[in-house]
Amino acid sequence: MNKPSIVVLGAGYGGIMTTIKLQKIIGDNEADITLVNKHDYHYQTTWLHENAAGTLHHDRTRIPIKDVVDFNRVNFLQDTVESIDPDNKKVVLEDGELTYDYLVIGLGFESATFGIEGLKEHAFSINNINSARLIRDHIEYNFAQYNNEEGDRQDLVTIVVGGAGFTGIEFVGEVVNRVPELCQEYDVDPSKVRVINVEAGPTALAGFDEELVEYAMNRLEEKGVEFRLGTMLKKCTEDGIIVEKDDEQEEIKTKNIVWAAGVRGNSIVEESGFEVSRGRVPVRDDLRTPDYDDVFVAGDCAVIFNKETDKPYPPTAQIAMQMADTIGHNLKQLINGGEEFESFTPDIKGTVASLGHTDAIGVVFDDKKLYGRSASIMKKVIDNRYLVKLGGVGLLLKKGKLDMYR
Ligand code: FAD
Ligand code: NAD
Repeated sequence: MNKPSIVVLGAGYGGIMTTIKLQKIIGDNEADITLVNKHDYHYQTTWLHENAAGTLHHDRTRIPIKDVVDFNRVNFLQDTVESIDPDNKKVVLEDGELTYDYLVIGLGFESATFGIEGLKEHAFSINNINSARLIRDHIEYNFAQYNNEEGDRQDLVTIVVGGAGFTGIEFVGEVVNRVPELCQEYDVDPSKVRVINVEAGPTALAGFDEELVEYAMNRLEEKGVEFRLGTMLKKCTEDGIIVEKDDEQEEIKTKNIVWAAGVRGNSIVEESGFEVSRGRVPVRDDLRTPDYDDVFVAGDCAVIFNKETDKPYPPTAQIAMQMADTIGHNLKQLINGGEEFESFTPDIKGTVASLGHTDAIGVVFDDKKLYGRSASIMKKVIDNRYLVKLGGVGLLLKKGKLDMYR
C-alpha cells in the first residue's frame, strides 16, 4: 500500500516544530514527511532585531536544519515555494513540483506596506536573516560614509523607525545600544546621531500595560530615542520620509529608514487562492483551511480569533509553536482514519519585549508585571527554553543566551 505523503512548507517556528512533532509521532510505515524551506537553516525570527541592529551576529540566530530534524525520517528539500494548487494537491517550487496528500503551510509573514509610496524602494524591513544583516550593513556603511562627505550630512546618521509596535520598540532598543560603538568606530560625534520612532497611534505598544509602556518609553528616551506619536509615515523618498501630524506634513531627512509597522501572511497563500483575511487564512478550530480538509496552516499565515473578544490573536512565535502540536495530532488522526481532532486554543503564557541587552518589559502568568533586569532575564529564559525544545541541551549550549545575568 502506498504511504500518504505529508509536505510541510517553511521551517519557521510553525513549520519546524510541526516537522519535529511529526517525526516523533508518525511511524516510518505510516507516512512520508517532506519539509521544504528556502534555506538550509531555521532562524529565530524573535532575534532578528538584534541582528539588524548589529548587537548579535546572525550566525547565533540561524540553526542548520540538519542539526534538529532527522534526515533519516524527513526528506528535506531546500527550495523556494512559488505557488500552491490545492485543487490538484500540488506545490510549485522554483526547481520543480511536489504532490502531497496532506499539506502544512508555514510560510510565515511579510511586511504590510499599506501601499505607502516609496516604501518598497527606500525602506528596509526586519523579515529574515538576509534583510536583517542588510540593515546592519547599511547603517554601518552610512556611519562610515559620514566623515567622507562634504558638509554636515546628518541624514547619514539619522535612523528612522516606522511603527512603535513590539518590533519597532525592540529594534530601537537595540539600535540605541549600538550607536555608541558605531560612533567610536567611525569617529562620529554622538550628538549628531538621531534615532526617531514614528508611530501613527497615540502611544507606543498600543494595548499593552500602560505602566510598562511608560517605563519602556522613558528608558528609551533616556538613551536618546525621539518618539513622534500620533504621526503617520506617509511617504519615503531617496532623501528621507514625509510624516503627517494634525494635517501638517514634515520632511525628516534620513538615509536609514526601517519599516516595522505591521505584518501580514506570506502573499503566496493569498495568490494561491486560499481564503484570507488581511493576508491570513481564517483557519478552522482544528487548524485546517476553511475549504480544504487536507491543508493545515501554522503560524503567521493563519489567523485565529479569541472566542471571548472576537478579536484576532496577534501573530506570535509562541502561538506558531503551540499550533504545531495540534497539527501533528490532527494529522496523525487523519492518516489513520481517526476522528478525534483537537481544537486549537492558544495558551498565552505572557508577553515580554526587550529594550536592549539588559532591559525589558513583560506581563507573565496572567498579570505579573516585570520590567528591567528581571524582565530581561525572563526573555532569555523563554528563548533558551525554545532552544531546548527544538534541539535539546546541545543546541542550548551552542546558541543559547547563557549570559543572562550580565
Ligand atoms: P517564520 O518564522 O516567518 O518562518 C517562515 C519560514 O518560511 C522561514 O524559514 C522562511 O525562510 C520560509 N519561507 C518563506 N517563504 C518561503 C518560500 N517561498 N519558500 C520556502 N520557504 C519559505 N513572537 C513571540 O512570540 N515572541 C517574541 O519575542 C517575538 N519577537 C519578534 C521579534 C521580531 C524582530 C519579529 C519580526 C517578530 C517577533 N515575534 C515574536 C513574532 C514571531 O517571530 C512570528 O510570529 C513567528 O516568526 C511566526 O512563525 P512562522 O513559523 O509563521 O514563520
Ligand atoms: P504591530 O502591528 O504590532 O505594530 C505596528 C505599529 O505600527 C502599530 O503601532 C501601528 O499603529 C504602527 N503604524 C502602522 N502604520 C503606520 C504608519 N504609516 N506610520 C506610523 N506608524 C504606523 O506590528 P509589529 O511590531 O511588526 O509586530 C508584528 C507581530 O509580531 C505582532 O503580532 C507582535 O505581537 C509580534 N511581535 C512580538 C514580539 C514580542 O513578543 N516580544 C516582538 C516583536 C513582534
